[in-house]
Amino acid sequence: MNGCMWCGTHFDSTYSFTELLFRPLKKERLCGACQSEFILLRECPLCRGCGRRHEDTYCQDCIKWQKLYPNYSFSNQSLFAYNVFAKEFMEAFKFNGDAELGQVFSKEVKAMLQKEDKHTVIVPIPISQRSKEIRGFNQTEIVLKQAGIIYQNCLEHIDNPENQSKKDRRNRMLSPQPFHVIDSEVGLLKQKKVVIVDDVYTTGRTLFHAADAVSQCGPTSIKTITLFR
Ligand SMILES: [Zn+2]
Ligand SMILES: [Zn+2]
Repeated sequence: MNGCMWCGTHFDSTYSFTELLFRPLKKERLCGACQSEFILLRECPLCRGCGRRHEDTYCQDCIKWQKLYPNYSFSNQSLFAYNVFAKEFMEAFKFNGDAELGQVFSKEVKAMLQKEDKHTVIVPIPISQRSKEIRGFNQTEIVLKQAGIIYQNCLEHIDNPENQSKKDRRNRMLSPQPFHVIDSEVGLLKQKKVVIVDDVYTTGRTLFHAADAVSQCGPTSIKTITLFR
């Protein structure tokens, strides 16, 4: 018997044959009911740009981004749909500072990033110093660490007194570049495949800024991966 990390329900962790084949998350962390709230996006029709659930090739937002960044062959992959359950979960993880909850993503994050070749540089999106002081950790780094993924902190967040996640959608679209590549890390990105990782894809603004900063260092390709879309 285990206690679900989210709802506390006690459940048996013996698996049926079907569960062994299809369980999307580490069974022992969440009960079946909570686990089924995380919708795996790879099982849905997706936008080829941002990876959201979408029937057409590209969604309207991605068409706008393509016009703004014509030289960037943008390709984002996300693990789960950012539904009501996911929002509550991330709220507890990030804003209540419950770092343990990040373990729920380990299996899927590991599976996704292990497909990259071993020379790929994995770069988490940094959070502002202010957020770090409040939260005590960078949620993306914690998730990578818990999944056993080696990553490089190449980007630095240039502090802005306004908290990004509190801004409205329009203001976020217009926000100035908050990232730069740390001088000593520039060489590490040159001629390398780079994967930028974030927790939630909201407007795409954060990831486009990060990709723009990384692209100045001459990588061979840039991909982005998020837990939620
Ligand atoms: Zn549960
Ligand atoms: Zn899209």
